[in-house]
Amino acid sequence: MESLSNISVFNEEQLKALYKKGIKDVQDLLYYFPRKYVDRSQLLDLKTSRVGDVVTFIGIVSGNEVKYGKKRRLIVTCLTQDVKIELIFFQAIPYYQKLLKPDIHAAFSGKIDMFHGSINILHPEVEILSGDELMHMGKIIPIYRITDGMRNNFLTNRIIRSAVRKTLDLYSSRIVDYLLPHDLIKNNLMTLDAALENIHFPKEMQDVENSRRRLAFDELLIFAVIMYEKKIKRRSLKKSQPLNITKKKEWASIIQQNLPFKLTFDQEKAISTLHELAYKPYPFGALLQGDVGSGKTLVALLCALEYLEEGIQVAVMAPTEILARQHYLNFINYISDLPFLQMDLLTGSEKASEKKAKLDRIKRGDTLFIIGTHALIQEKTEFASLGLVIIDEQHRFGVEQRDTLRGKGIMPDLLAMSATPIPRSLTLTLYGDLESIILSEKPPGRMPIDTRLFNEEDLPNLYRGIKKYVDMGRQAYIVYPLIEESEKITWASVMTDYHYLEQEIFQGYRLGLLHGKLSSEEKDRAMEKFKQGVIQILVTTTVVEVGVDVPNATVMMIRNAEKFGLSQLHQLRGRVGRGQHQSFCIMVKSDRITSEGEERLKSMVESEDGFYLAQKDFEIRGSGELLNTRQSGISEFKIADLRYHSELAVMAHNMVEDKIELRQKIMSMKNWKSLIKKGFILFDN
Ligand code: ADP
Ligand code: MG
Repeated sequence: MESLSNISVFNEEQLKALYKKGIKDVQDLLYYFPRKYVDRSQLLDLKTSRVGDVVTFIGIVSGNEVKYGKKRRLIVTCLTQDVKIELIFFQAIPYYQKLLKPDIHAAFSGKIDMFHGSINILHPEVEILSGDELMHMGKIIPIYRITDGMRNNFLTNRIIRSAVRKTLDLYSSRIVDYLLPHDLIKNNLMTLDAALENIHFPKEMQDVENSRRRLAFDELLIFAVIMYEKKIKRRSLKKSQPLNITKKKEWASIIQQNLPFKLTFDQEKAISTLHELAYKPYPFGALLQGDVGSGKTLVALLCALEYLEEGIQVAVMAPTEILARQHYLNFINYISDLPFLQMDLLTGSEKASEKKAKLDRIKRGDTLFIIGTHALIQEKTEFASLGLVIIDEQHRFGVEQRDTLRGKGIMPDLLAMSATPIPRSLTLTLYGDLESIILSEKPPGRMPIDTRLFNEEDLPNLYRGIKKYVDMGRQAYIVYPLIEESEKITWASVMTDYHYLEQEIFQGYRLGLLHGKLSSEEKDRAMEKFKQGVIQILVTTTVVEVGVDVPNATVMMIRNAEKFGLSQLHQLRGRVGRGQHQSFCIMVKSDRITSEGEERLKSMVESEDGFYLAQKDFEIRGSGELLNTRQSGISEFKIADLRYHSELAVMAHNMVEDKIELRQKIMSMKNWKSLIKKGFILFDN
């Protein structure tokens, strides 16, 4: 790659400082994008600006003076369109005094204030612009991130700008676009050289948007290729324990015949897709997404039975003990009609001797069906013939944890399940290597859940309502966002409120407490009692969030609802509405709620569609809240943001299949993360 010394702008020390920042050659420099822009045409319009507005303007310093009053301060006066503005600094006075000398041009941004009839700005952000440079610049000026290391070597914005300018002049015509003109036109994308020109030196702010779109596409395409190759690679592998298609299997149909309900169309479709995948010679990876209550567990079970009937081990991993136990009990119930099938629950909280016996059975292959928590991926856990791995609530696990469990078998199949549906663009991007299966329809006959938003003043009324339903034989959850009251955070806390509720509000009712700090036995006991109806009102934190199934519970009250994300709220709401009685989701907001929080809670009232809410959540809070993106790789993107570029992700996904050469090119680069960082360009020589 072309060396930075070719552009002869930097001295040795500066080159070293840039090297430290990861800017090692001209390509790195071209991909060192501005952190923001100053628009010179953005004139300070005093007619429409008010005190408190944040403004950016370019001004010429006319003088500076240190004043000694109550506090020492530097007052810099500057002129912009003949208006005098005072810039006031209390800190770093010597620095600014030296920097802001008369006749200096600079861009200032900050909050407008008025004092004794003159306009001033306290500690504005300052970008020095040199006069002769300005003559050659467009009206929009790029501002780069200048690190201390750079600043110490006099690497100013001005120098970076001129270096980038020179690089573009020298190399632009030699940038080879890996996308064909046809692809560019079809997808409405700029050429790569144009994108690089425009992200550094835009004529209009719209140019920045357009070039970001192009550069985001490159990142998404690289990622799509990686995912695609992963999928292809998996398809070239051979399963160690292929299922035998000629052996007739009956277990799944026995269970289906005994079901008290009919499978939904989506469930049928999912089961037949999984059936097809199971008989492929390669180990499949599938992601089963379905809203809360869409019946994923049964789909997983019916798939698992094909393996179990052939004597192949199946492991189901759930994120909490409560959930693992629930699956275990649930499955016991289902398989009671089958010939004997050894099943074990492994949670790590069993007695040492009991645990050892279970581990031995699993290792010998005596137990075929293993349900558990993270205990499944501990080193000590060994499987005889693990052929299918099922991961429930997979977004609660990291990529590594999923891979560890798969590593316990020799190329087992993977079925990952998620009740937090994510937008399609995200699925394609993050799980592009997996087959996507979706349950969009819920079993019929479910009544909508009456969802409403209240203030804390309404609590006495709401408590009366809860009593009414409990008196009718129903049960209720009261969920809190925190376990203990800390000094700083004063949200209602489950610990302190529990005693109050028990002694003052719900006297004579049976309350139970469930939170993450309890031991697993205590948790199980509380949950079990709630299931049996011994506990009528369960006061809890989000430990109940995932998968818990108590059909008689019809009231879900959520305190400080603004503290939860939409997906989480939807999960909580999914704990009720599981039986034949009308259910309620009562969200109680505190008066500290923001307008964004208010908006979020309103969408809960408006919709019960998990896919819609996930999309909303994503738009409001980004992907980080929705899934473990930190481990997923999309945090490597410099520009692509799936909130805004979802359509590009779909385009990239659709493009990879028939771009064989491009895939080879990308795969030949050793590290895709550095490829994203450095950008994907090829210079012709
Ligand atoms: P989730 O998809 O949230 O994991 P579950 O698998 O826990 O949902 O299913 C929720 C409830 O719906 C369970 O009680 C299950 O027995 C029931 N169920 C599953 N499939 C159907 C169906 N086709 N018709 C009616 N009820 C069903
Ligand atoms: Mg579930």
